[in-house]
Amino acid sequence: MKYISTRGDKTPRRFSDILLEGLAPDGGLYLPTHYPIVTRAMLAKWRSLSYAELAFEILSLYIDDIPAADLRRLVDKTYTPEVFGTKEITPLKQVQPGLYLEALSNGPTLAFKDMAMQLLGNLFEYELGRRGETLNILGATSGDTGSAAEYAMRGKAGVNVFMLSPHGRMSPFQQAQMFSLQDANIHNIAIEGVFDDCQDIVKATSNDLEFKRKHRIGTVNSINWARLLAQVVYYFAGYFQATKSEQERVSFAVPSGNFGNICAGHVARMMGLPIKRLVLATNENRVLDEFFRTGSYRPRASAETYETSSPSMDISKASNFERFVFDLLGRNADRVRELFHAGNFQLTPGEFDRISVYGFLSGHSTHADRLETIRQTFKDSGLMVDTHTADGLKVAREYLEPNVPMIVLETALPAKFAETIVEALGREPDRPAALKGIENLPKRFQVMKADAAAVKSYISAHV
Ligand SMILES: *Cc1c(COP(=O)(O)O)cnc(C)c1O
Repeated sequence: MKYISTRGDKTPRRFSDILLEGLAPDGGLYLPTHYPIVTRAMLAKWRSLSYAELAFEILSLYIDDIPAADLRRLVDKTYTPEVFGTKEITPLKQVQPGLYLEALSNGPTLAFKDMAMQLLGNLFEYELGRRGETLNILGATSGDTGSAAEYAMRGKAGVNVFMLSPHGRMSPFQQAQMFSLQDANIHNIAIEGVFDDCQDIVKATSNDLEFKRKHRIGTVNSINWARLLAQVVYYFAGYFQATKSEQERVSFAVPSGNFGNICAGHVARMMGLPIKRLVLATNENRVLDEFFRTGSYRPRASAETYETSSPSMDISKASNFERFVFDLLGRNADRVRELFHAGNFQLTPGEFDRISVYGFLSGHSTHADRLETIRQTFKDSGLMVDTHTADGLKVAREYLEPNVPMIVLETALPAKFAETIVEALGREPDRPAALKGIENLPKRFQVMKADAAAVKSYISAHV
């Protein structure tokens, strides 16, 4: 399989070339030249596979430059009950007949990002080892992504992580999760500033090309194709659990921010997985909901981005969205380049009509909707859901259809967002046993001024 850019660069690249890269050189995102088709007969065979076996089958269709035995070993090591809590890895829970949650949040940081990041850690270690290279990952986080990256990369040979976070602004639980890591290759840098300051430092450092090359600076952001590919697997796993035969279709509802999670659903559907609808759910930051209703894409400035009770979906601009638009426009890279250079755009009526062909629907929730959904779900089914999953459930209910199971992706556990659970239910959420008392563990982090030069000299001194 070869990979091309959404902006037209057709220099063919293989999986291991793009694994450690971010954007394509022309500023586009990487996609495979085509989506391998999975027949009903293949689906019938895959139904009985374990999660790791299924992951191997799907990844093999896209990766032909890692020997099969090595790839199998990497997925076997990643998707274990020890790391993800159950032998199903992503078990379904019934909310009511025909409506399910797919649990994607039982990894080490209690959010779905572990599903892909844990694999990425093993892939990075393997590829760097094979090349005899090292990589220093630099990132900014306000919570979920940074901790998922650190738990994936901790103790991995050839990789260091430098993670910037706004000092004192993450929840005590999130701080404890990240700062309690004692691994020598994990560096937590608490910046005296807000998240945007952290992001500006990452940008300034990455734009210093000489520093970047000399110190082998890389990222693990959500546009990484390997992360997206790893996420395709749980759409298949969810489908098999909700159906009895390949004649049946299901729909998925996905709490969305950067469009990474639901884009994996789009890929699964393009491969032939019988998905009827992909229901995109946003919070009050409705950039994507607006697009799917009107064909108008209007990214917001950070000042226009609301801070909500589902913070991992508080995005102003959806970094993975260009991949879907590329497919929607019949892979016309000239048109994609034109639209994304402009920043804001409006599809033509003909282009907009094509959205229904791809099965997308959308909706949004408010804080009050999420509280109500958390309460109602707990009362009716005894299931406690977090604010992001509540957003997905609220929108899913607007699109239920008879005889088409609806699977809502559970993107985080309520323990991560205790404050809103207390507001909704008047009690603390349950916490997995392994994380009880995590706030009392010794913390290892470095406080720094919001100054790129200081961060750079810290990196130089620690690689
Ligand atoms: C990252 C995240 C999302 C949004 O996922 P995207 O892939 O950015 O659309 C939703 N919920 C939680 C809990 C997250 O951490």
